Amino acid sequence: MSDIALLPAVTEFLARVPANFIEGAYQPSTSTQRIAVRNPATGQVISHILDASDEDIEHAVASARKAFKGAWADTSPYARGVILNRFADLLEVHAEELAQLETLCSGKSINLSRGLEMAQSVVFLRYFAGWASKINGQTMSPSIPSMGGEQYLAYTLREPVGVVAGIVPWNFSVMIGIWKIASALVTGCTIVIKPSEFTPLALLRVAELAFEAGVPAGAFNVVNGTGQVGQQLIAHAAISKVAFTGSVPTGIAVGKAAMAADLTRATLELGGKNPAALLADVDMDQAVTGMVQMAYVHQGQVCAAPERLYVHRSRVSEFLEKLGQALSTLKIGSPLDESTQFGPLANQAHLEKILDFFARANQNNTVICGAKAIDRPGYFVEPTLILANGPDDPLLREEAFGPVLCVLPYDTEEELVTLMNDSPYGLTASVWTNNLSKALRLIPQIEAGTVWVNMHTFLDPALPFGGVKASGVGREFGDAFIEAYTELKSVMIRY
Ligand code: NDP
Repeated sequence: MSDIALLPAVTEFLARVPANFIEGAYQPSTSTQRIAVRNPATGQVISHILDASDEDIEHAVASARKAFKGAWADTSPYARGVILNRFADLLEVHAEELAQLETLCSGKSINLSRGLEMAQSVVFLRYFAGWASKINGQTMSPSIPSMGGEQYLAYTLREPVGVVAGIVPWNFSVMIGIWKIASALVTGCTIVIKPSEFTPLALLRVAELAFEAGVPAGAFNVVNGTGQVGQQLIAHAAISKVAFTGSVPTGIAVGKAAMAADLTRATLELGGKNPAALLADVDMDQAVTGMVQMAYVHQGQVCAAPERLYVHRSRVSEFLEKLGQALSTLKIGSPLDESTQFGPLANQAHLEKILDFFARANQNNTVICGAKAIDRPGYFVEPTLILANGPDDPLLREEAFGPVLCVLPYDTEEELVTLMNDSPYGLTASVWTNNLSKALRLIPQIEAGTVWVNMHTFLDPALPFGGVKASGVGREFGDAFIEAYTELKSVMIRY
């Protein structure tokens, strides 16, 4: 097989003069700083973005504030839902174009960009659109004594918090972007979003489509640049909420900066070192297939994916042999080739981080397979499976965010729970067993925001998602997101 042909719309987009999308259009900028965007499969520069200037940031926040008080506030909840559904329709119509842009920047396989990134972005957007006319307060029954026959009526209003700063990582720029954009718009907020400097292109095109769908000018702006642009957004006095997804160290800095900026509220969706537990009765073929799909998807650069694997000692050698065999047959290659199952890492800095992880594994651990770079242009490494040297092995504690599973045998379920919880993180976890009773007893003992049984990594808009411990603050999706994007106003009336 060979690479798919790029759509003319994609080549035209790559060639365009870089600009930020503010107030419904690409705006001239005072910035002279261009940032190169590279294709991780080749290392070649494919486009440029502008590092937003102070004036660009000011303009984006001011236009978001204007739309928050004006056009978006004047749009009824029903009409917001209609616009967001139209936006989802346009994402669907332009899915191939967006998938190609995303694959070119991120190295994600084109199948994944189409079947997960774009397909799920549409699913999530339509889910959020459905909330538009259902965000309500409550009526209450006050207990204030009535001295002279007076009565009281009390109720709450859910009011949008204001302008949101959305800051997103490079692994699923469209889908994670849509989580923030849709949560903000459906609650009546407006948003300025900063994509990662590594994967900035698709979200610019998404902003054009939102505008075409009827999202008013200024309600959804994109400013590009490095983390410095993110810092400036967080510190801006007109930003009412920060919605951040990214690494733990950056997330902690973001949370502190938001607090320092007059207590700006922040939701932080951060990293993890997610455990999966294979119980003694596990259906091994199902678990091996599941690990290939769920731990090595997008080269393991998925926050929810498992990285620590605890396997009952009686099944360890069978597991290592079967998973090692399955990984050796994965087709590694260009992410634009539809037959490719495993592509490059997303950028040079991340490649270096993973190679450092491999160097330590090769020095200190039993490597079942992988732990090597692949000698070809771009940022390719082999899918990797290693045995941990006991519970304190640093490779079992540090997030790799790459195609690396670390396996440790265990003997008793008591020991298993201790091992699973022995981490500063708590984003996701999974238990693999056909013994429902055992699974149901384990679930409450596991410290994680999401626990799966016989699956891992899959997200659904109906289920709240977020971390415990150092994996974050707050929840996205379900109805939990409403709390994060609205203020509760209490009203009491005497009559
Ligand atoms: P980073 O934390 O490095 O960056 C995330 C975003 O923050 C990027 O847009 C980055 O810009 C920006 N940024 C960097 N420094 C600052 C700063 N000081 N203030 C404000 N913004 C800043 O994460 P990665 O992009 O490397 O993504 C990988 C990480 O994201 C992993 O740890 C992963 O686990 C986590 N993640 C968590 C998810 C979740 O839902 N819990 C989902 C997906 C990923 P720039 O890239 O331009 O530097």
